[in-house]
Amino acid sequence: MMKKIKISNFKGLAFDLDDTLIDRETAFNKIFKIFHKNQKAINKKFTEKETLKFFWDLCPNNSIDISYCFETLKKKFPKINISLENFYKFYYETFLKVIKPHKGVIEFLDKLIEKNVNFGIVTNGNDYQLKKIETTGLKNKYNFVIASEIFGHSKPKIEIFQETLRLLKLNTVDINKVLFIGDNPYTDIIGAQEYGFKTAWIRMRRNYPKKLDPPDYIIDSYRDLLI
Ligand SMILES: [Mg+2]
Repeated sequence: MMKKIKISNFKGLAFDLDDTLIDRETAFNKIFKIFHKNQKAINKKFTEKETLKFFWDLCPNNSIDISYCFETLKKKFPKINISLENFYKFYYETFLKVIKPHKGVIEFLDKLIEKNVNFGIVTNGNDYQLKKIETTGLKNKYNFVIASEIFGHSKPKIEIFQETLRLLKLNTVDINKVLFIGDNPYTDIIGAQEYGFKTAWIRMRRNYPKKLDPPDYIIDSYRDLLI
């Protein structure tokens, strides 16, 4: 199923943000390398590699649940000296400092705009998502952006895909002419699929979960989309 996708076959496109347009994977590693270095309670027991594995294991499907992460961290390292609030702050503030777009993304989005491609960004999260867009130079390089916590519903709920269709200025007859591109099977792909969008999953060296209906396309990155 690995193949290039011609975007001219679609009337609209919607991109996830993290790990689709911006390199969250690298940022995540950088954040927890810094955390490892700063936290004696951790670096006395764990090597940097072990710390990274610990946090990756807590965050399957490339998304973080800060409270869950914090609780597990506290259980594993009771002596750790950080509050939930500061952990949250550390994560997102460091993220903004280290996050970069995937190589070539800016040029790619410029080209989509130049060719009048109908597309937007649909991301789970709050105001931080908009800050990430700004700090990675993606601001205004889309027709619209939906940040789920500002909108009121998150992927995979149907409402956010309905809103996507509305902002693409398309009607329900065009649902299967929309391609949703994302890396998270459980939010991006399931939700878009149930609504009737076509789906492209960015695999990032993983296998697609066997229990789920497969996506329409499996790709390595946005570079597999042909303008
Ligand atoms: Mg993502």
